[in-house]
Amino acid sequence: MPNGESPKNVLVLQAEPLGKARNYPFHEVATAMIKHMLEGHTCFVKWTCGKCKERVISNESNRISSNMKHEECGHTTDIEVAGAGLLVMMQNQTMESVANYLAKMVKHHGSD
Ligand SMILES: [Zn+2]
Repeated sequence: MPNGESPKNVLVLQAEPLGKARNYPFHEVATAMIKHMLEGHTCFVKWTCGKCKERVISNESNRISSNMKHEECGHTTDIEVAGAGLLVMMQNQTMESVANYLAKMVKHHGSD
């Protein structure tokens, strides 16, 4: 987690299959982020570093910019070109509401 230990009551959702990084267009990620934020969730942008190819998670919550810097290697990736993903942290949710939420997200993003 970007902020060290994650509290017990926080569930982390990844809008991509585990171990299978998928990038969405910048405007979709930005729109989804605003929606999640309005629902009270915390978002972190994920992207694939253009230099070292590592999957990076932003260490700043609820912030998206076209140029995302990978602190470890110093490379800045233009995610308006490369696309990005989103990590959503939901607080105080039941497993049922999370399941419903995921189902909606899968429906929205489709599957491939
Ligand atoms: Zn890098």
